[in-house]
Amino acid sequence: MTEIIVGIDLGTTNSEVAIVRGGRVEVIPVAPGVRILPSLVGVADDGSLLVGEAARNQYALHPERSVRSIKRRMGEYTAVQMAGKDYSPQEISAMILRRLRDIAEAHIGEPVGKAVITVPAYFSDAQRQATREAGEIAGLEVVRIINEPTAAALAYESCHSGARKALVYDLGGGTFDVSVVNLESDVVEVLASHGNNHLGGDDFDQKLITFAIDHLKAQHDIDIRPHAQAMARLQHAAEAAKITLSDEPYATLAEEYLFEKDGVPIHLSVEISRDDYEEMIEPYVAETLEAVHVALSGAGLTVADINEILLVGGATRTPLVQRRLESELGMQPRAEVDPDLCVAMGAAIQAAVIAGGQAPTVLVDVTPYTFGTSALEYFNGDMYPYCYVPLIRKNTPIPVSKSEGFCTVFDGQRQVDINVYQGEDPDALNNIQIGRFTIEGLRDAPAGNPLITTFSLDHNGILQVTSREKNTGLVHSITIDNAISRFTGDKLGEARHRIDALFRDQDGEEGRPGASVGAAPIDDSRRLRVEAGALIEKAERLLASAGTEDAEDLVNGIEAVKDQLGGPDASLKTAMDALADLLYYLDA
Ligand code: AMP
Repeated sequence: MTEIIVGIDLGTTNSEVAIVRGGRVEVIPVAPGVRILPSLVGVADDGSLLVGEAARNQYALHPERSVRSIKRRMGEYTAVQMAGKDYSPQEISAMILRRLRDIAEAHIGEPVGKAVITVPAYFSDAQRQATREAGEIAGLEVVRIINEPTAAALAYESCHSGARKALVYDLGGGTFDVSVVNLESDVVEVLASHGNNHLGGDDFDQKLITFAIDHLKAQHDIDIRPHAQAMARLQHAAEAAKITLSDEPYATLAEEYLFEKDGVPIHLSVEISRDDYEEMIEPYVAETLEAVHVALSGAGLTVADINEILLVGGATRTPLVQRRLESELGMQPRAEVDPDLCVAMGAAIQAAVIAGGQAPTVLVDVTPYTFGTSALEYFNGDMYPYCYVPLIRKNTPIPVSKSEGFCTVFDGQRQVDINVYQGEDPDALNNIQIGRFTIEGLRDAPAGNPLITTFSLDHNGILQVTSREKNTGLVHSITIDNAISRFTGDKLGEARHRIDALFRDQDGEEGRPGASVGAAPIDDSRRLRVEAGALIEKAERLLASAGTEDAEDLVNGIEAVKDQLGGPDASLKTAMDALADLLYYLDA
């Protein structure tokens, strides 16, 4: 048996720990169903140490007893204050590493003494040394420090396919990095890196928040910006809408009882189309593309030298990001490994190799083919009714559901034919038609009546295609069984082989919904109520110094938590989260 070395992604906002067992890469859950540990530490009222979610929750109440984003300070000879005591950045990072070590030990049932830890490619020697020291303080021998893009390349197995050059594009919540890497016989070399430490998905949220604020001003003549609670809730609504827009052509920014004006409740409900949203975030995406070119010229390369693009970071799920990269670099970016977890997975792969094991493969269920429909669009300068519109791209992890908006072409058009194809050719007629249906009885409307078509592909290769008239909800759909294996000759065998392998392995993969997310044990429920009591107490303490409006929000938040103390855990947790957010926001 080889010794266990864990792989750790020690991130600015979130951290993860992964291992390789039985030839599989596992990202270890930090709580039931959760594999991401917020990179925050704090000291609780009773002097005990808080790490992760608990520290995040108390940050709002006690910033003086909490520390976040310590990664930005690594390598500085500075003291960070927490609960009146000075700590070095290494010591704070060590607390996160120690928690991850404990989580790994509890999961494996064996002591863990060694780790591979990832750092950004641009980290200096001092920053790397500080990271190594943090590991040692945490009781971990850091057997190797590797670059985050290197880890991503390992997770994508890029280095197994001969000499190649890859662009690793990493867009997280608050940071952006792009690296050009050279992959050759299992060695990954970072040739150049560029980025912006203050650009990410949070900026996309901010655009939607501004959009909602403008809407409320125009619709109700109110400015909610000074109201912390409403702003905290809007923040959540904006992020949720953003995530919806990654899969749907429209999203509704909605929050009931967001605000009260003259005793009348104001509900927020405003629809936004993906097109409008993309226009808002386009300047940010353009900035990242400029950085791509800076990194390329830093490496002395051109676009033509790049063999593949690897996506890292949650915000790379944004379709505009993927589309712009594809058109700028002329290839579909690879997105099949979970972008939030792939750095930790790569660290674990490196760790397994150092431990003397075989380099394992990250297994994901993906569709080997692209599915789409046809529409009337410009094709080689002319309008052509069979322009191919791909909805589910090949190598997308399954199950998956993607929607796209279309419009009627003629005034009074009462029906639309929906063709379903498998293939890659921009001319739909050159692809394989695997289904077709007609949606009839559309309302009598001018051209431009919107329809939403949704493709949902499940693990068994069953493709459901639905088309819905947006304004009436009229719906028609078909189900295509065995969509994935509807091929001929070699391709059929190849696809079947690949899918069989994926299904064989899927059962053992961790993190599948339902595996460990059952009902919370009694202890958790009791602990939740103890935490609720503490949260109420802290909020009540803050009341004394809060302004009138904030005080009103606080009282409402406290009452909502109290109301749920005797209710189900989930409702209590929702009320607690809202109150914790408010406290967090008041602090900011
Ligand atoms: P990371 O720092 O890699 O965990 O990335 C977090 C960022 O990714 C946050 O801004 C999230 O809101 C964003 N994000 C997560 N899922 C999606 C999604 N499906 N579409 C767009 N952004 C997402």
